Amino acid sequence: MTSAYRIELHPGQVLFREGDPPTTAFLIESGTLRITAQRAGLAVVLSDLGAGALVGEMAVLDDSPRSATATAVERCVLTPIDRTQFAERLATADPVVRALLMSQLSRYRTALATFAGGSTHAIRQAEPMPGVEAAHALDKIRLESQLREALERRELEIRLQPILEISSNRLAGFEALTRWSHPDRGAVSPADFIALAEETSLIIPVGEYVLREVCSTLRRLADEAKATLFIALNVSGRQLEDADFIDRVLTQVRAHGIAPEQLKLEITESLILDYAKVATLIDHSHRAGMRVALDDFGTGYSNLEHLHKLAFDTLKLDQSFVSQLQDPRCLAIVRAVVGMAAALGCDMVAEGVETAQQLEQLGALGCQYAQGYLVGKPLGVDQALAAMRA
Ligand code: C2E
Ligand code: MG
Ligand code: MG
Repeated sequence: MTSAYRIELHPGQVLFREGDPPTTAFLIESGTLRITAQRAGLAVVLSDLGAGALVGEMAVLDDSPRSATATAVERCVLTPIDRTQFAERLATADPVVRALLMSQLSRYRTALATFAGGSTHAIRQAEPMPGVEAAHALDKIRLESQLREALERRELEIRLQPILEISSNRLAGFEALTRWSHPDRGAVSPADFIALAEETSLIIPVGEYVLREVCSTLRRLADEAKATLFIALNVSGRQLEDADFIDRVLTQVRAHGIAPEQLKLEITESLILDYAKVATLIDHSHRAGMRVALDDFGTGYSNLEHLHKLAFDTLKLDQSFVSQLQDPRCLAIVRAVVGMAAALGCDMVAEGVETAQQLEQLGALGCQYAQGYLVGKPLGVDQALAAMRA
């Protein structure tokens, strides 16, 4: 029985013809379909497709007329797949994968046209120019290659942003923020290139590089500025998945002869979704003497149910709260969060502190540390060392 969800063909029946407009693709449930194309007035068999094969998907993907005819060789049962079912999945697919797919499709169509004896002129015209989206996807791939190169050439650089102890007005440590000075694009924001690196395994060597830079900076701090401050290192989700991550960190710590207490790991709140991995990381870090901070607190999935089980040493209050302290409702939330952090035995760093008034308010609320442009912008390592010697 044929319905919108199931099509039956008897032997010899045509499913679609070459040149038809595409509306639907089909999944063959049983039977065999023969795909043929007219070449010099003759029907040439391109393939016989059996159960499990997709048919008619090409035209649906690129909205071109059917490039072949499909005829049942024996009794066939098919499940129609509406183009919107593909469209939805394609829309959410990785743009790079989408660009690859469309490029392969157009290459295949060109090959088919050549096979049909189409003029090369016509073929060139048929080959579509990459669309805006494909160009964007290729841009990303290009950027990724350049990031790999930058890594090899050691063009990534860390900046140190000071963190102030509010009560004593003394420097407590720094956060390491990675910078990429791109030859053509200028300074690429870590928000962009870290996200890009996270889409691939590239984040692993980037993370290793930053870790090594941070450890060697801690060594220089001890040697040149006689200081034992901490440096906070941002950890990405992919690094968290690496079971040997803490061991890698400790290897670098030992190689540079620094104390594990000087390194603090920052985990952004959105990663807490992976509760078990975070719990393990905190546990391993503590056993090794390293502290762990929860970054961007209040912006992601502040799942309180998990938070009470995760023994973070520090909560970093996201800058969006700090910038709205003049709002009494926001102030009330910050006051409650400071109380909660204290009750959980965590200290608190307010991020994005830009005005003296914010600093004063935060101090009055009992927040211990402040980070932001008021305290200092991220500095080059040499600059930071010079500032400490001064
Ligand atoms: P984050 O860890 O929350 O870092 C704080 C961000 O706020 C930094 O942006 C910093 O420059 C910015 N900031 C600091 N003070 C102020 C202020 O007073 N006002 C304003 N408006 N902004 C301020 P940046 O350097 O662009 O880094 C963005 C994010 O990229 C970081 O957020 C962090 O999640 C990520 N990131 C940076 N370096 C690394 C890295 O080496 N590894 C990983 N995995 N992520 C990194
Ligand atoms: Mg951070
Ligand atoms: Mg943050």
